[in-house]
Amino acid sequence: MEQQVIPRAEHNISRQDISENALKVLYRLHKSGYNAYLVGGGVRDLLLGKQPKDFDIATNATPEQIKALFRNCRLVGRRFRLAHILFGREIIEVATFRGHHDSANANTESKRSEEGMLLRDNVYGSIDEDAERRDFTVNALYYNIADFSVVDFAGGINDIAERRLQLIGDPETRYREDPVRMLRAVRFAVKLDFSIAPESCDPIAQYGPLLKDIPAARLFEECLKLFLGGDGKSTFKMLADTQLLYPLFPLLKPLLQQWDEDAPELRFMLMALASTDKRVRGDQKVTPAFVFAALLWPLLEIKKDELLIELSLGEHDASAMAMNWLLDQQCKSVAIPKRFTTGIREIWQLQARLDRRFGKRAFQTFGHPRFRAAFDFLELRAKATQDKHLSELAQWWQQWQRSNEQGRNTMVRELNKNSGRSKSRRRPRKPKKTDS
Ligand code: ATP
Ligand code: MG
Repeated sequence: MEQQVIPRAEHNISRQDISENALKVLYRLHKSGYNAYLVGGGVRDLLLGKQPKDFDIATNATPEQIKALFRNCRLVGRRFRLAHILFGREIIEVATFRGHHDSANANTESKRSEEGMLLRDNVYGSIDEDAERRDFTVNALYYNIADFSVVDFAGGINDIAERRLQLIGDPETRYREDPVRMLRAVRFAVKLDFSIAPESCDPIAQYGPLLKDIPAARLFEECLKLFLGGDGKSTFKMLADTQLLYPLFPLLKPLLQQWDEDAPELRFMLMALASTDKRVRGDQKVTPAFVFAALLWPLLEIKKDELLIELSLGEHDASAMAMNWLLDQQCKSVAIPKRFTTGIREIWQLQARLDRRFGKRAFQTFGHPRFRAAFDFLELRAKATQDKHLSELAQWWQQWQRSNEQGRNTMVRELNKNSGRSKSRRRPRKPKKTDS
């Protein structure tokens, strides 16, 4: 690959914008006689005048050599062996330059599946080989700590100027090697407001289904980046557009194939994503449980109704069975960790409990650790469906949260007096089966 060097005077990357810890690592590697570069999203985002999410470093030091230099270093990863240098909550990722897997020593250190997917990729190489192994041209820019220049091997500087994502190498081969690159293309296109070059975009329609072969745990990690990165709503839409959404959420396909943003189900999902985006941008806490609970909610309702009819189960049993079934199915493609499926269930279960407010129940529900998430969820449901009962319910809980103990007691008493208990149920109880 031909390399172009942009000297310090001709680019806008200043050390003031680079994390102190990343600089420490770069300097220590450099002073120990290794080559050390900031690379990837850190360089790309700084060139775009954006604040990078994290700083990745590439070097010619091997993981063992890196470990010898830093006390606070852990070696991680199997598919890619990496060094993590820990500074409290900040982790600086240091990777050794990767080489071609078809070179002489490749037999044991790199491995491909029958579809051409890379299973192991631990062959070390030179910086230009490393650049060739990266996904997009704009992700293959290296900031050299030795002279503060930026080294461009793949035309990334030009693509930054043109705001264009372009895969390095032959797009079909690169998507086959690692289908997750398709998800990354969509994520970066949205986040950076870039276009995807046609040669990189067109094959997605054909190769998208290869995502089904990616381990479900890795797809969960990708989902976090896709939906909790601050651009979840736009990313979701583009994933649907490119059909990449359906290897992640196969069960959503029948529901969303006819894309209709006025349909209450889709409106609800998009509103939940937008509300999450707002929280992420405002540095408020977000949980994957809320997002997954929202994306799967319409499916839960459908499945529950099916079970109510098919198995003539009661509301509560049908609901519990639908939750189990849905989460089992979903975890086959995206492995949502147990701590989050627990949260999802709680948010769902609280939806019914928010409706039952008599006696001590409202107080108990309010004391639940997930109350706030469940209430936010209810409010979004009310807004998305414009359902009168849901809106009143959301308002009632809004008032509850603003009231003191005495006010809350009054609210429950009023409820008893005014509504007559049966009216507050959304569905009438099923008639008891009679023996015939
Ligand atoms: P951000 O951190 O903002 O999401 P990033 O570009 O830094 O974006 P990372 O996942 O942190 O993305 O990866 C760091 C770099 O590693 C990328 O810029 C890219 O050069 C390379 N890389 C990551 N994943 C892949 C992949 N699947 N295929 C090829 N190269 C990759
Ligand atoms: Mg990064």
